Amino acid sequence: MVKQPRTHVLEVRMEIAGLGQPELDVSMPVWTPGSYLVREYERHVISFAPKDEADRLLAWHKVDKNTWRIATDGAQRVLLDYEVYAREPGIRWSFVYDEGGHILGPSLFMYVVGATVAPTSAEFHLPHGWRMTGAIAPAGDNPYLISAGSYHELIDAPMLMGDFTDIEFEVEGVPHVIAILGPHNADLERWRADFTKIVEACSGLFGGLPYERYAFVFTTLTGGGGIEHANGTTIGLSGLDFQSEQSHRIVLGVTAHEFFHAWNVKRIQPPAFRPYDYEQENYTDAIWFYEGFTSYYGDRILHRAGLIDALGDPADLVSRYRETPGHAVQSAASASFNAWIHLYRSDESFNNYHTD
Ligand SMILES: [Zn+2]
Repeated sequence: MVKQPRTHVLEVRMEIAGLGQPELDVSMPVWTPGSYLVREYERHVISFAPKDEADRLLAWHKVDKNTWRIATDGAQRVLLDYEVYAREPGIRWSFVYDEGGHILGPSLFMYVVGATVAPTSAEFHLPHGWRMTGAIAPAGDNPYLISAGSYHELIDAPMLMGDFTDIEFEVEGVPHVIAILGPHNADLERWRADFTKIVEACSGLFGGLPYERYAFVFTTLTGGGGIEHANGTTIGLSGLDFQSEQSHRIVLGVTAHEFFHAWNVKRIQPPAFRPYDYEQENYTDAIWFYEGFTSYYGDRILHRAGLIDALGDPADLVSRYRETPGHAVQSAASASFNAWIHLYRSDESFNNYHTD
């Protein structure tokens, strides 16, 4: 629930039913798949109040930094109210401002430990006039109610709310949405035409679309970057004049990259990501493959789509890698494994990565 956007507080009521155990553990993920850094989302939880069916407060204590243990006192159903402060200026968090907000599931939704595969749903209560869109379409008549087959699906679905502009298109009968939150001068009809070609090119490469809906979520309210999800992406674009060809090329480049991830790393995955462990780092020595091949194919998809005339020389990518001083002291596999401590904390001594 968003009551006062300018307070940047998201209020969450979590309903947990079918209980029989004396204690219940709920956790907040410490990271979000696609961004390899423990961001400690639990640090933005500013209140925590579990109650039983009779509205009585239940006792609780924390058992680690991101896990709360609730004494159910025999309750079959627990209503857990908590608040999340959502003002981090970036797409790797949930945020809410006067204009609207972005929901990045891992930074907002807690989970019942041991119950992440159960079907779940979320209903949003938003300020008057706010709309909502994203990777999950409303299941019924209520435009603010979304359902997911599991907690994993729920938090891998970026959602946008507020006063955004949007446009939709279909490829092979599958709906796609483009939505932008924040001021912009983008020509959405042009985006729709070009994104359609990107989707068609990827579908042609992989032999079909692996999802039932996909959302291209953009915001100009935050810094840059992109994060991939199973059925969508969130991309931060600020300071661009979208009418310029140079800016449009940037949009196409990051869009093709993030969209290619719908296959490469979201469905073609290392064992360490199946399933994701939200409690800690998920180590793999293959991030170089998932990011490197996605970057390599990004331009190729644009070329297949007829959106760029010429392809860069693959040798340039190799040269760029070889000219990066770090390659002589750290392998790509080692850089992947250590992404958790270096990727978003790089300095002049760790110039090894490219990723979005
Ligand atoms: Zn990437």
